[in-house]
Amino acid sequence: MAYVRDDGPDDLTPLDKKDVLTNVATARILRPTSKVLPEDGRAHNRAMLLQHLFHAGPTSRAQLARATGLTRVTVSDLVNDLRAEGLVAELDAEPEGRVGKPAARLRLRTDAFQIVAIDLTDAAHLHGAVVDLEGTPVHRLVSPVEDRQGAAALAAVTDLARALVAKADKPLLGVGIGSPGVVDDDGTIVEAPNRGWFDVPLARELSTALSLPVHVANDADAAVLGEFTYGGASVDGVLVVRVGQGVGAGIVLDGSLVQGRGHAAGELGHVTVVDDRDDVDGAPLGRAERCACGRLGCLETVLALPAVRRRVAGLDAAQSETVLGAIGRRLGICLAPVVAALNLSEIILAGPADLLGGAVCDEALRAIEERTMPVTSRGLKMRMTGLGEDGTLLGAAVLVLSGELGFS
Ligand SMILES: [Zn+2]
Repeated sequence: MAYVRDDGPDDLTPLDKKDVLTNVATARILRPTSKVLPEDGRAHNRAMLLQHLFHAGPTSRAQLARATGLTRVTVSDLVNDLRAEGLVAELDAEPEGRVGKPAARLRLRTDAFQIVAIDLTDAAHLHGAVVDLEGTPVHRLVSPVEDRQGAAALAAVTDLARALVAKADKPLLGVGIGSPGVVDDDGTIVEAPNRGWFDVPLARELSTALSLPVHVANDADAAVLGEFTYGGASVDGVLVVRVGQGVGAGIVLDGSLVQGRGHAAGELGHVTVVDDRDDVDGAPLGRAERCACGRLGCLETVLALPAVRRRVAGLDAAQSETVLGAIGRRLGICLAPVVAALNLSEIILAGPADLLGGAVCDEALRAIEERTMPVTSRGLKMRMTGLGEDGTLLGAAVLVLSGELGFS
């Protein structure tokens, strides 16, 4: 997206313009989806300022103008509004350059607002937290799912959201939710069979119940947003493989979340990776098993946590390493064409590091490198998430940042 200027040519020097092109913080901006597309140039400019302050830290008005390509007049005008709203504060004054009067620096008041974030991925518990804008959980709540499905499970989500709203001790920007299943741009859960949810307008209903903005996205999509904003993920092509009861993936490519035609991009868990004619790994993984989706040998039948735990139960360290390596190899075989097609720079595994961080990760990368042209996989990084179990939770918070303030 090109910068939008609302007031004609300005006084940028060629050096300033170079700064604009190379400014890292502004380059990190995630292109908004149609839902959060700013309505006008002013909203876009405002989002650029917030984005820069969020990633670059305290900044003077002049530095903001250089970094965003906006005129100083426009920056001052927008900053006045942001200060009136309490989003931005003046920090202190210090000399800028060798001459001239001190310039006050501005900071985003990340501690002055909070977000309610909820992760619905876990089959047994709903996980929620009140987080500040830096992604630090301030209060956490966990609610057992028990056998609740359908409307009863939705009521549990509403109860958890209400309890978290009550815990917030700063103004709330909104509620973000990462949910299993296919979720459309309006936050309607199109289908989440394991919760018994079909065409549930969760964002709309919860927003009415709580009188707050509510943003809902697929949990793997939320996870990749969490890595993008709070986990230091690559800007130019990252895929997060989320391993839990199932296996899903979220993709950010060239600064955009990849959602696909039916909002189902990244559903790698049901790609067939083991079949009965296949003896590549022979004994370590055994024959193809029936998947919950009804088909044989899906990635989930070897990589979902229950499958991994069952396969390594009772094995010694060396045997366990062999089995985990074989699982990693199947993951790599599944990911190789994705890497070849998208020329990704980073793959992040989200799940328990003790199971996934060693042979699974190493052998997956080796299989990708063996099966792709060096030009597509050279320099590809594969690593465990640095966000622990909180990737989807923090991604749910990013849904609110992006939906309400236009940055991520
Ligand atoms: Zn399947």
